[in-house]
Amino acid sequence: MANLRFEAVAGAFKKRPLNVEIPKNRPSEYFAKYVFNRQKMYEYLPADVYETLIDVIDNGSRLDRSIADAVASGMKKWAMKNGVTHYTHWFQPLTEGTAEKHDAFVEHDGKGGMVEDFSGKLLVQQEPDASSFPNGGIRNTFEARGYSAWDPTSPVFIMDDTLCIPTIFISYTGEALDYKAPLLRSLHAVNIAATEVCHYFNEDVKKVSANLGWEQEYFLVDEDLYSVRPDLMLTGRTLMGHDSAKDQQMDDHYFGTIPERVQAFMKDLEIQALELGIPCKTRHNEVAPGQFELAPIFEECNLAVDHNMLLMSLMRKIANKHGFRVLLHEKPFNGINGSGKHNNWSLTTDTGILLHKSGKTPEDNLRFVVFIVETLMGVYRHNGLLKASVMSATNDHRLGANEAPPAIISSFLGKQLSVLLDHIEKSDKNDLFTVAGKKGMKLDIPEIPELMIDNTDRNRTSPFAFTGNRFEFRAVGSEANCASAMIVLNAAVAEALTHFKERVDALIAKGEEKNSAIVDIIREDIKATKPIRFDGNGYSEEWKVEAAKRGLDCEASCPVCFDRYLDNKSVKMFEDMNVMKDYELKARNEVKWETYTKKIQIEARVLGDLVMNHIVPVATHYQSQLANNVQSMFNIFGREEGQVLTARNIKIIKEIAERTQKIETGVEELVDARRSANKIDDARERAIAYHDSIATRMEDIRYQCDKLELIVSDELWTLPKYRELLFIR
Ligand code: ADP
Ligand code: MG
Repeated sequence: MANLRFEAVAGAFKKRPLNVEIPKNRPSEYFAKYVFNRQKMYEYLPADVYETLIDVIDNGSRLDRSIADAVASGMKKWAMKNGVTHYTHWFQPLTEGTAEKHDAFVEHDGKGGMVEDFSGKLLVQQEPDASSFPNGGIRNTFEARGYSAWDPTSPVFIMDDTLCIPTIFISYTGEALDYKAPLLRSLHAVNIAATEVCHYFNEDVKKVSANLGWEQEYFLVDEDLYSVRPDLMLTGRTLMGHDSAKDQQMDDHYFGTIPERVQAFMKDLEIQALELGIPCKTRHNEVAPGQFELAPIFEECNLAVDHNMLLMSLMRKIANKHGFRVLLHEKPFNGINGSGKHNNWSLTTDTGILLHKSGKTPEDNLRFVVFIVETLMGVYRHNGLLKASVMSATNDHRLGANEAPPAIISSFLGKQLSVLLDHIEKSDKNDLFTVAGKKGMKLDIPEIPELMIDNTDRNRTSPFAFTGNRFEFRAVGSEANCASAMIVLNAAVAEALTHFKERVDALIAKGEEKNSAIVDIIREDIKATKPIRFDGNGYSEEWKVEAAKRGLDCEASCPVCFDRYLDNKSVKMFEDMNVMKDYELKARNEVKWETYTKKIQIEARVLGDLVMNHIVPVATHYQSQLANNVQSMFNIFGREEGQVLTARNIKIIKEIAERTQKIETGVEELVDARRSANKIDDARERAIAYHDSIATRMEDIRYQCDKLELIVSDELWTLPKYRELLFIR
């Protein structure tokens, strides 16, 4: 029997790093080479059109159709100079990836020939035949077709021969069918709410934007090995495989020397990402063998989300070129770390104030405390929803497992900030705050040393940690669209800030001095948000007990977590903040449950195939070899002595029989469980059935397979083993 595994191992071993040509000029010079950014707008657009477009981008003014043609024409000129022949509306449907349909620039010229054409109409709006994108029934209910519309706040870029136009994807009646539309609405909500709160402190603030700096973790696997692992190919993770004797226990991979082939891949990736305007900054090995990370400098949230989606596509493409496959799945390998995508989030004003950073004056620090506490308030009130926003069939394997955030949302503030909040809460109001005559106020809010930013004690177990001048949301999955988490976070904080302002204004209306009113309300909120603050070990069992006592959401079943989207208080928040309507939420939940079910269904099928076509045949083949050996030994030595001499083989023969039996029964039960789950009509109930009765059965089958891997002759085993997948590169 030819063993593809050995060919793959041999092939993988022979590979050498590709030579990556480093551009002659500096990164700052080729940065955004393929982006239609302000500089190119200035160059390619008439002056008045440029001014109008900048106003649309900066101030959210409506895009006037009358300039669309001129913008499109400038874009086309620039694009054709770069060898572009096609354009596409690039959007983010409710799958985890992006979608695009390419059209050539050509049109009939009316004289039997062709001309290159690209009108404003085509730039601004399109109707992709999108009937097969998930929409949860919205488009049946509203009998409306979906269309994509240009988002001018995210610049157009070139990929290969195609001009890519970032767009939102919505139905004709305005329901969001993608991630970008609600993300933009949530950013608008937090802008409005935060700007108003800023006016207590700085009247000249006109706009507040959210920042996002994501850190993308991923695994690289050699493509030859990948190609003989049907589970990796079809599900993105290994459905079986025994631990490698050595994996991450020596802590020797993290920040270690980057292997040469990987380094070549990273260089190539970074050059192309920089050319597309993604400000890559950090690259390093991660904790698990074969695991790496890339992080850019943070950007405005909407742009950062687009850049992350773009980077994930680039990674896939460039990894293939280097003979790798990139695994973005949250948990490709059992027993070692999974991959996340830390979302570093903060708010900044158009006047340059980082609202999550402490300041120098007591007033600055009061503002800082307001934004910290109201962020906590949003996270506290919607902790279950925030968890739901990062839950998926794939991230489900990571949350709560090896060195990953637990499936409970809490926030780590670090000692200095905790002490400060306690001080404000517990001090006597007169000590804390005195209206000192004409001078206005005297606030006893101690200054926080600058050093704090670098000094924050790091708590890697916290899912939502304050890290000096931002919060780091660590529970986001590596494969996910960051927008899902950002929509909820922005909306929740917008709501908290809105309520904060209402209460402060009410006190002011009653005659209380402004700062005194702010202090009153903030003291109330420091008390109220205590349950979400936790600086201890988030991985511990005690924390689970404690968190439940505090009333935090401890639900661990992924499909049940999605219910949080439909809780009254969630619907109210989304509606009040103009982010989503209840029917949009319902439709999107249908999609979530459907997706969950399909993912588990595919895994269950692949597992069944692997077991029946790889594991059981190989194990029984080996069993026959052993049986033949036993028979020969009996022939030579007679039965009695033969039995003694072949005792070990007999034991293995038995063990193989028992385990394959269990596997076969397991697979039969798995098929039955699927059959009955498939009969359930309700999407939620079906997803729950898949979670409760199928996912667990798969684990039992896997257990038996992994035990067989340990006893069956290595020579016969067909699936590349963990040690090969993780260490050959
Ligand atoms: P870590 O120590 O967590 O690995 P990194 O230095 O890799 O941190 O940075 C994580 C990300 O956080 C980067 O994208 C960085 O630009 C971003 N970041 C830094 N400051 C802020 C901020 N105020 N708001 C949002 N993101 C930020
Ligand atoms: Mg980080």
